Amino acid sequence: MIRSFLIAAFLPGMLCAQTYFQQETDYKIKVKLDDTRHFLSAEESIRYKNNSKETLNEIWFHLWPNAYKNKETAFAKQQLTNGSTKFQYANDTARGYIDSLDFKVNGETVKMEYHFDHIDIARIILNKPLEPGGEIIITTPFKVKIPSSAFSRLGHAGQQYQLCQWYPKPAVYDKAGWHPIPYLSQGEFYSEFGSFEVEITVPENYVVAASGELQSNPEEQARIDKNVEESEALSKSGFSKDKKSTVASSANWKTVTYKLDKVHDFAWFADKSYHILRSSVQLERSGRTVDTYVYFSNKDADMWKSAAHYVDESVKYYSKWVGDYPYNVCKAVDGALSAGAGMEYPTITVVASSGSARALENVIAHEVGHNWFYGILASNERDHPWMDEGTNSYYENRYMTMKFEKHSFMTSSLPDEVSGMFGLSKFQPFQLKNFPSVFSQRRNFDQALNLTAPEFTGINYAFMVYMKTASIYNYLAASMGQEEFDKMMQSWYDQWSFKHPSPADFKAHVEGFNKKEMPWLFDDLLASRKRVDYKICKASGSGNEGYVKVKNVGQIEGPVSVSGINGDDVVLTKWFDGFEGSKKLPFPVGAYNRYSVNGTGDIPDVNAKNDEIRSTGLFKKGRRPKISFLTGLEHPRIAALYVLPAIGYNYYNGFMAGAAIHNIGMFRKKIEFIAVPLYGFEIRQLAGSAQLDYFIRPVSGCFRGITLTGSAERYALRFAPGFTRFTGGITFLFDNRREFSKVKSELRIRHVSVITDPYGNLDNIPSPLSRTLDFNQLTYTLQDARVHKPYSIVADVQQGSTFVKGSATINHRFNYNSRRKGLDVRLFAGAFLWKSASYPSGPDVRFRLSGQTGIQDYLYDDIFLGRHENSGLLSQQMTMTDGAFSLYTLLGQSDRFLTSINLRSSIPKVPIICVYVNAAAFSFDQFEASSNITTTQTGTATEAGINLSIIRNVFEIYAPVVYSKNLADAQKFTVYDTFGQRIRFVLNFRLINPLNPLRTLRF
Ligand SMILES: [Zn+2]
Repeated sequence: MIRSFLIAAFLPGMLCAQTYFQQETDYKIKVKLDDTRHFLSAEESIRYKNNSKETLNEIWFHLWPNAYKNKETAFAKQQLTNGSTKFQYANDTARGYIDSLDFKVNGETVKMEYHFDHIDIARIILNKPLEPGGEIIITTPFKVKIPSSAFSRLGHAGQQYQLCQWYPKPAVYDKAGWHPIPYLSQGEFYSEFGSFEVEITVPENYVVAASGELQSNPEEQARIDKNVEESEALSKSGFSKDKKSTVASSANWKTVTYKLDKVHDFAWFADKSYHILRSSVQLERSGRTVDTYVYFSNKDADMWKSAAHYVDESVKYYSKWVGDYPYNVCKAVDGALSAGAGMEYPTITVVASSGSARALENVIAHEVGHNWFYGILASNERDHPWMDEGTNSYYENRYMTMKFEKHSFMTSSLPDEVSGMFGLSKFQPFQLKNFPSVFSQRRNFDQALNLTAPEFTGINYAFMVYMKTASIYNYLAASMGQEEFDKMMQSWYDQWSFKHPSPADFKAHVEGFNKKEMPWLFDDLLASRKRVDYKICKASGSGNEGYVKVKNVGQIEGPVSVSGINGDDVVLTKWFDGFEGSKKLPFPVGAYNRYSVNGTGDIPDVNAKNDEIRSTGLFKKGRRPKISFLTGLEHPRIAALYVLPAIGYNYYNGFMAGAAIHNIGMFRKKIEFIAVPLYGFEIRQLAGSAQLDYFIRPVSGCFRGITLTGSAERYALRFAPGFTRFTGGITFLFDNRREFSKVKSELRIRHVSVITDPYGNLDNIPSPLSRTLDFNQLTYTLQDARVHKPYSIVADVQQGSTFVKGSATINHRFNYNSRRKGLDVRLFAGAFLWKSASYPSGPDVRFRLSGQTGIQDYLYDDIFLGRHENSGLLSQQMTMTDGAFSLYTLLGQSDRFLTSINLRSSIPKVPIICVYVNAAAFSFDQFEASSNITTTQTGTATEAGINLSIIRNVFEIYAPVVYSKNLADAQKFTVYDTFGQRIRFVLNFRLINPLNPLRTLRF
């Protein structure tokens, strides 16, 4: 006992005391491209040196081309999670793999075992242990079937090749042990440093763009010089518009060798139609010159002709801000990338189609910047994505802000008119950059930055990892002062170049530099979902004895700034250390008309509404009301109300026109409302609806959101001036443990009141009195809205004055070989749980074998064109509820029990048309007036037909073709005599309301 206690007590100390080490991996690879079968065949030799204090018995290897081998790989699964079915439904010829491996260590064959879960990871078992300080030569041949470039990074588009993550590569072994990681699109890499010498053999007329420097090869050099000369001439005279080059591959082969030291990866690209342009840039600090190259095809040639200059500028400014670029070359390649807008490799960067020269410069600056953040400061990108993407995004933003006034993520991707309409030009550049993360935070779908890359939702990977981190760096730089910040980052670069820094190393460096602990940065902003929100309360005093009272209403005690603003000019800004509660901050009185706690836009504050006060006037905190179109962003000085035209139609009100008036902006507010008053031209009356939501957004705990909702609506009915419906409810959205998934789990409790004017039809019988019906409802929904095999489970309990009933509905889609084709399975079961003595005197709430008609929709939940029509086309509208039979029937209206199965299948190669089969069993009470006895009847029914799925679940037409005899008999009691009359349709207006996406948007 004592011994094991001692070991346990000493172990952590020993681990900490262990000095930093990293392994060495020097590669020699000979590779030949087969451009007819899209294969690589290669020989690899790696000198592996063990610099750890441990003896190694195995070496873990990444065999990443195997990520493209089948539908079971981590990559394939992540593609589906992120909503792409391309790889899932791809045919085998488009997929890829690596094989023909035969690992030898120092010439002796070793055993290789695949990872239990991942075929793109394997380990070799060493015949002899590798002692600390020892080194071995690992060799293997390998062949790669190159996948289509439509999926991710490694790939080919015709005969254009992107050879990325293409060779067997040892996983990192560091103080935490081995880091074998499967290949993913969302989630990058972690690799050992070393040198590369790669001999590439391709048909002679291929242009090769590769990491590193071309080794002496006069023939190849002459080809490059000639290409550059021609490309320079074409830059002036104009590039050919021929976008598809169909040059045959030369029968002669060439071998070119590229070498590069102090890097952890090697990528190369080959295309017969690449133009090459080159330039060079001198680094200000060391005076060294870096040669720059760009490779591009005709497609975007006009955009690319200045791109070498973008590479120059990126190298220049990153070198100036962070530290000198250590390599002699820097290149950018126009490629058919399918994972993001660009991808970085040491000294070479691939950029996908960009759309504009400015966007191209933006992507080049970002990707070239990765030479510093991950290339040289080689953090673990998979586990700590903010360290490379976030840090790099900060510098990329700085570059773009310097080059283009008020550049931003949003303004660059939107036409000027659009950004003007949303008032984007009113904001500071970094404030705009912060908006996507505020958007996520205000909807409470943000994620903490200390998650691993695959744990982020696709959108949060961009909004959090890239943009929120960039905002945090900008906040830090503004509060420290740019010069101090740059010094801090430069010494970080000097200390950790060509190493594997961790977040803990960064924390130690930043806190050491600032000589203080900074929990607001490392515990809160970079590792939690806590929010920054400072509120300005009042300004007082006179002269130099002025004060501004500021209250911290957020959860982070980060630095805060106070600015005096005159017109649009920030006259004076002072920074203060963060604090809890309220504080009077000294701020000299001056010629300002406003004070702000975020006047420079550098604080990633989640709530701009409380940021400013006026220095004079009665309503210092009041914001100027403004009416805008559609929707917009939040501004400290403007309280916006949004308006957009609205139209509607139903049979009783006739055509309706009016407006939707709301306050729903891009950022969720605590209280949101929407009112849609409409004027109905048929009965010349007002109609419409209104809704008010109150959102509670806990930052921790088991709920992601609690929403209190109240709504009211009023429309006309067949015999009555109208009905009025009120609902009030509360919805609990549960926190999703696997946040990156599309799973939603929600509990809703609500009350529904429906009031009809006299002669309104509440339960199939028009009444001369105004009547009210009340219902309570509890609904639990579990839904996985993934693209492949989505499902939902809904459990529902309803209570009215005379009954309690419960039901469960399961929907599951089984996809065929494409996203659009599949089998939809629906299961329904419903039972009455309680009936009062006076039942059935109340509303007719029976379960229906048929999908509900307007008359049967006693909760008035759905929108019907002719809610109370009982014959004619409008009466043929239905909803997919209860038994969901398409045939309208009076059979199977059940106040005991109803269950159904509904199968619908699309037809391969035929669009829109589906076939369906429905079957149901039910029981109900039958009252026989003659004998005064109630008996329980049971029955079954089946039908089959053809469905036109014009817009899935929004506009559907169902034509029942065959049905069971009891249904045929029951038809005689309906008004639907002909085949045409028996066709029914679904028109789900709730799903096509244009404001719905704004309200329910989530990622
Ligand atoms: Zn990046």
